[in-house]
Amino acid sequence: MMPALAAPRPFAWAIPGLQSLLELFPPFLLAVPKKKVSHSRKAMRSANKGLKDKRNLVHCPGCGSPKLAHHLCSNCYSSLNRAWKAKVRGGGNSESNVPVALD
Ligand SMILES: [Zn+2]
Repeated sequence: MMPALAAPRPFAWAIPGLQSLLELFPPFLLAVPKKKVSHSRKAMRSANKGLKDKRNLVHCPGCGSPKLAHHLCSNCYSSLNRAWKAKVRGGGNSESNVPVALD
């Protein structure tokens, strides 16, 4: 039949249109640390990353539970959120779902 197809052609590694095999890999695959970070170096780096005491705790004026200063109280927020969701499920009126600003 066709003698050119019967003979095994040598496998070509080069892909036409590709300059280098590095073009196949995305660049983030090649971002690898150059040297191993030893246990001592790692411990020295993380020595100042320990947990620190919170100094900005206050009591919520609404419910009295401790919360971070200048943050929303999680206890009050969960109760308000539960109430809003119950209202949405019960009422279904989109105009009345606007949350009321808290003081
Ligand atoms: Zn609260």
